[in-house]
Amino acid sequence: MTSCSKCGGRPFYTRRYSGETLCEPCFRDSIVAKARRTVSKYRMIERGESVAVAVSGGKDSLSLLKVLHDLSAPGGYEVSAISVDEGVAGYRDEALAHARDLAAQLGVPHIVVSYRELFGFSLDEALDWKEGERDVSSCSFCGVFRRRAIDEAAARTNASVVATAHNLDDFVQTFLMNLMHGDVARLAWLDPAYSDDSFPLRRVKPFMEVYEEEVALFAYRSGMAFQSVSCPYMHEGLRSEVRDYLNQMEAAHPGMKNVMLGSALDVISRYSGSSGKRSVPCPRCGKPSSGGPCGVCRMKALLEQHVNQ
Ligand SMILES: [Zn+2]
Ligand SMILES: [Zn+2]
Repeated sequence: MTSCSKCGGRPFYTRRYSGETLCEPCFRDSIVAKARRTVSKYRMIERGESVAVAVSGGKDSLSLLKVLHDLSAPGGYEVSAISVDEGVAGYRDEALAHARDLAAQLGVPHIVVSYRELFGFSLDEALDWKEGERDVSSCSFCGVFRRRAIDEAAARTNASVVATAHNLDDFVQTFLMNLMHGDVARLAWLDPAYSDDSFPLRRVKPFMEVYEEEVALFAYRSGMAFQSVSCPYMHEGLRSEVRDYLNQMEAAHPGMKNVMLGSALDVISRYSGSSGKRSVPCPRCGKPSSGGPCGVCRMKALLEQHVNQ
């Protein structure tokens, strides 16, 4: 039987793309080490900074909170947890409880903001009103508000950095989907080194070089409770087709996803330097916008039309 490539211990996981076999402690260490290298390579978090980790209560975000908490003392930064309550009856409460429990266990401050408090409606109500706006998917609609809510929560913790749990698979899927939608201008936002002087809150993805299946395994073996049911409004459509395609490619050609990530980053860095893409303040609310009213103000205007009818 093969033993752990690092310590000779009992085999637990074989990383097909590198051929290394790891015992469980070495596997866990490898995930933490990879996140640490990613953070340092892209200078995602500097010493003395305060990081707000966006925690939905699912396995990826709870793992990220745990990993960044482990890295925060040696890295010289502070970590807090922020969660968004979209207002989805029977779904969100369980996830928020998992986020609250882990934050308490780690001794990390936890802030929850709700759509109702920030925007005046719950997602349940908004999607009710949205009937008829079929050209806007529930997820892209909700995503616009969630990003704003995360910014608000981060501001309340005085964070200068927001960390989200997007993994390598999410990154490559988003890259490909932008190409498929003809949305090349959005590629600049994926640049891990992207910074925007006019809006100083940085967004970072410390798991962007870790395979989804490895984050999942890390979560399953860490003994924490997390929500596994997905949002009842989720209709992923194209994204799940892209996910299946990438998984098939990876099964036939181990390491393909790593290569795709490298290529995507190469394209993005060449593109984002020349695109000159910068946000400008939204004329209605003053928050970052790619031009004209921001997504939140546009979506709110759509909703108000329906409510006033
Ligand atoms: Zn080992
Ligand atoms: Zn606005």
